[in-house]
Amino acid sequence: MSDFQMSTKCVQGGYTPKNGEPRQIPIVQSTTFKYDTSEDMGKLFDLEATGYFYTRLQNPTNDYVAAKLCELEGGTAAMLTSSGQAANFFALFNICENGSHIVASSSIYGGTFNLIQVTMAKMGIDVTFVSPDCTEDELNAAFKDNTRAVFGETIANPALTVLDIEKFANAAHAHGVPLIVDNTFPTPVNCRPIEWGADIVTHSTTKYLDGHGACVGGAIIDSGKFDWMAHKDKFPGLTTPDDSYHGITYAEKFGKEGAFITKATAQLMRDFGCIQAPQHAFILNLGIESLHVRMPKHVENGQAVAEFLESSDKVAKVSYPGLASDPYHERAMKYFGNGGCGVVSFELAGGRAAAETFMKNLKLAAIETHVADARTCCLNPATSTHRQMTDEQLEAAGIPAGLVRMSCGLEDSKDLIADIKQALDAI
Ligand SMILES: *Cc1c(COP(=O)(O)O)cnc(C)c1O
Repeated sequence: MSDFQMSTKCVQGGYTPKNGEPRQIPIVQSTTFKYDTSEDMGKLFDLEATGYFYTRLQNPTNDYVAAKLCELEGGTAAMLTSSGQAANFFALFNICENGSHIVASSSIYGGTFNLIQVTMAKMGIDVTFVSPDCTEDELNAAFKDNTRAVFGETIANPALTVLDIEKFANAAHAHGVPLIVDNTFPTPVNCRPIEWGADIVTHSTTKYLDGHGACVGGAIIDSGKFDWMAHKDKFPGLTTPDDSYHGITYAEKFGKEGAFITKATAQLMRDFGCIQAPQHAFILNLGIESLHVRMPKHVENGQAVAEFLESSDKVAKVSYPGLASDPYHERAMKYFGNGGCGVVSFELAGGRAAAETFMKNLKLAAIETHVADARTCCLNPATSTHRQMTDEQLEAAGIPAGLVRMSCGLEDSKDLIADIKQALDAI
């Protein structure tokens, strides 16, 4: 399907039924698969033949959807995971081990920040965080001999900073390591990081890809461009025999195009088992079938709401890359050609109390710990996700007490704006 346009890939990518086969992707609701001889099965275990043997590692339903995402992002191999957290962990842990170091943008999702800074540190993996706006010199200075990956988010959740993908890719490649980009917010409809030099793309499919608040999930897509063998010493997991897998050397046997995802499946999925349920993969696929129709509407609503908020004197500051006044506007135009997503964050002039009154009075936008749903939702970090912090700590973290993150859904923007207006009037 690689010659087709994005819309066609969203609808028909990943699965082409043969004569008499189901039109919709089948849900293979089976933990296991049957073989005629032990020899047949042995070949699967040796990775000599392709096929399924246990759904903890792989399932056909998941693979149809992963193949669609692979086409959408322009990669060579892909896999689904049980969540976005699992996707980012697998993407990093597939090439990092005890003693490795990661360079990461400091402007990333809180869950990923925690994963890298706290949990992966316990595994002996070190991190240096850099500002997404650092200079080339500052970025280069963050690398160490044991750096194995660079990580960033195309549009950061919730800060809405935009990553300069080319700059980060160039620095990563100059140091012989891949760039991993979490592309959850723009989705491949608005940005394809591989075209700008990213090597591995990850997603929380929980967000726009599903788009209906129905299923938690994740995905990893490999560009197939990073030459592991050219940096053999850095990536022994890919470039030397895997004793836990019959002495296979992934980069030799599966090449640049297949090594990363094969290793993550054969080794990490086998050992951690963070597989997405086939039922969830099916629901995810329904979401992706309309992704190209939904994303422009999310962006249109985000832009309209951001412009309205900017005109209100109850609002101190609005962050949305689609606004000409936004510090990331130029970068957004380069990488997306629009605001990139439907999430807007803004600070109410009246601080914490104003945020509380505003949110209480909203009728359409529900208070939720979620973004990227068809239904508009919002969150005040100071009274929810970050409620353990004092107003001073919140200010220092760039999350003022009056900050509201609003994820604009697919409703009519006139109704959303009228709802926001009456809630602002109540302050
Ligand atoms: C939500 C989110 C995650 C985590 O995904 P889950 O599916 O909730 O595990 C990772 N990255 C970004 C950018 C997110 O928005």
